[in-house]
Amino acid sequence: MKLTAKQKFERTVDWLRKEFPSILHSRPENNVIEIYVEALAIEAYGYARKHGYAERNEIHISNKIPWDFRLHVLLHEWAHILIPLDIDSIKECKWDSERRAAFHDDKWALCHVKIYRAYLKWQFGFGKKEKNEPQNH
Ligand SMILES: [Zn+2]
Repeated sequence: MKLTAKQKFERTVDWLRKEFPSILHSRPENNVIEIYVEALAIEAYGYARKHGYAERNEIHISNKIPWDFRLHVLLHEWAHILIPLDIDSIKECKWDSERRAAFHDDKWALCHVKIYRAYLKWQFGFGKKEKNEPQNH
């Protein structure tokens, strides 16, 4: 059965919750990562709110982009949830570009790549069941 892009997104959320759970909160109930696809008040494809800034983990994704794009924003924001914030280094940033770089430091990048590679592996195995998917990548 061929899944729609929305169904793939929803299955990826389930898969992420199982494979890459959040463990930063001391209270387990606050480790749940809630996903909101909505009109964002800021100019962005998505953003994450997490422990340090918020009581709960939340990923907000723009409803103005297609589902397959939302899925990649989801993987990006998921890495933000899993990496502890280095609040001191972010406080020192004077410019937005500096802040953006601090949020996407080596720790975040390694986490993102780990999630992304696992996703590709999982997606490949999943894609084998679909006849039209290329099998040699
Ligand atoms: Zn980011």
